[in-house]
Amino acid sequence: MNAQRVVVIGGGPAGQEAASYCARFGAEVVLIERDVVGGSAHLLDCVPSKSMIATGGAMSFARRLDGMGLANVDPRIHAASLRERILKIERRLEDSVTGVLQSQGVRIVRGTGRLVDANSVVATTEAGEETISADVIVLATGSRPRVPDWAPMDGERVLMTRDAYPPPEIPEHLVVVGSGVTGVEFVHMFTSLGSEVTLIVSRQQVLPDKDPEAAAVLEQSFLDRGVSLFKGARATEIVRDGDEVKVICTDGRVAVGSHALLAIGSLPNSEDLGLSEAGVEVDEWGFVVVDHNLQSSVPSIYVAGDLSGKLPLSSVGAMQGRKVAEHALGQHIGRPHRHLDYEKAASAIFTEPEIADVGLAEAEAFATGRKIRVTKVPFSANAKALINDDPKGFVKIVSDPNTGHVLGGSIVGRHAAELISVIALAVTAGLNVQDIHDTLFVYPTLSEALSEAAE
Ligand SMILES: Cc1cc2nc3c(=O)[nH]c(=O)nc-3n(C[C@H](O)[C@H](O)[C@H](O)COP(=O)(O)OP(=O)(O)OC[C@H]3O[C@@H](n4cnc5c(N)ncnc54)[C@H](O)[C@@H]3O)c2cc1C
Repeated sequence: MNAQRVVVIGGGPAGQEAASYCARFGAEVVLIERDVVGGSAHLLDCVPSKSMIATGGAMSFARRLDGMGLANVDPRIHAASLRERILKIERRLEDSVTGVLQSQGVRIVRGTGRLVDANSVVATTEAGEETISADVIVLATGSRPRVPDWAPMDGERVLMTRDAYPPPEIPEHLVVVGSGVTGVEFVHMFTSLGSEVTLIVSRQQVLPDKDPEAAAVLEQSFLDRGVSLFKGARATEIVRDGDEVKVICTDGRVAVGSHALLAIGSLPNSEDLGLSEAGVEVDEWGFVVVDHNLQSSVPSIYVAGDLSGKLPLSSVGAMQGRKVAEHALGQHIGRPHRHLDYEKAASAIFTEPEIADVGLAEAEAFATGRKIRVTKVPFSANAKALINDDPKGFVKIVSDPNTGHVLGGSIVGRHAAELISVIALAVTAGLNVQDIHDTLFVYPTLSEALSEAAE
């Protein structure tokens, strides 16, 4: 299909990238966004959570400064400045994204988009309704936190993640429900900011889907910071009694704190989008069913980002947006179109230590009986880690024992989220361990551990 008019609904990482690439490919593009261009990623999730974590990290670093030869550093939180800092970052990002899109000729409509049929959308704005026709429609409306009916959210003491940037007050004792990526990041954030924390872990390991060795390092770091872990516990009720919040678990255990925060997954923003009117198929959770080109059951309607029910990451959403633009506008024709391989997406958990991984995991290879070579180097022998006074963690590389091809890896330690890029590139480009080992890294850096692990 050689489409010229594109309408994108939703201006998060997925929608903005789809709009930007469609415009670069010469299409006439309208982007409809009801809130902030940059999406929940900038306004409500990634950016504010990482900004809070950066502040918490600065605080916990300051508390450890005696290890760097400095004394009597006593940092205090200033909630109003923290809030202002987050808003400033968000405003800057929104301005820059909006500026780029407008310079590419994308028309941004501030309003709510809804499908009318396979080739038209109605945008409801302050000025009224506008019907826009399109050859291609891209749905990128994202997702929102899942709130079960047993959780009486009040934005004050019973919180969802989006209430916490920062919350009305820094909790004295926070009970976090959910020990996946988001849950552990919030545990880290609030322990760094000085809160006592209890974590409800539904299984026997925090981060149940991650490398058990990496999860064990994080668990130990939580225990060192005094976090109480309720393992094998499932929250079933939250009761607020004045300034106290009780989280009641199915096995009868009760976690008592001053605040509770829920981090138990997300739901797609797919209601009120006109999906059934346009004949678009959704799954039982409301995510739009897509094929490997991210095309829905209606060929002119594509999906990018969290709404596709694939890997819910900003980076993945943005890449999906680009792939949608390439496919919808025929840019893949005449050259090999590389489908998105979700297995090769690098991801990170911004805790202390950071945890990052990409590609094939050691546990997954063992579970499937695949032969692999695993090499692991701790940071405790790395000069830069010692200079940083932070020698926790390791680099692990998983490779093919016959060809030497890098299949995956995980890194635990400071700057793991940055360092994993080297392994991610090796996995995507089909490099082998020797290529990493032959690379001349700067001395002293944490990256040298990558070269050693690739020996
Ligand atoms: C606490 C938290 C932290 C996270 N941290 C990270 C991280 O560090 N790194 C990472 O890669 N991912 C992170 N994620 C995941 C990431 O936020 C999402 O994967 C990403 O935001 C999805 O992008 P999207 O474009 O699909 O949707 P969104 O970013 O949710 O954007 C969707 C946009 O669509 C708009 N919209 C919705 N419906 C309509 C409509 N009908 N009309 C007009 N506009 C509409 C919304 O206003 C919104 O702006 C985090 C998630 C959470 C919850």
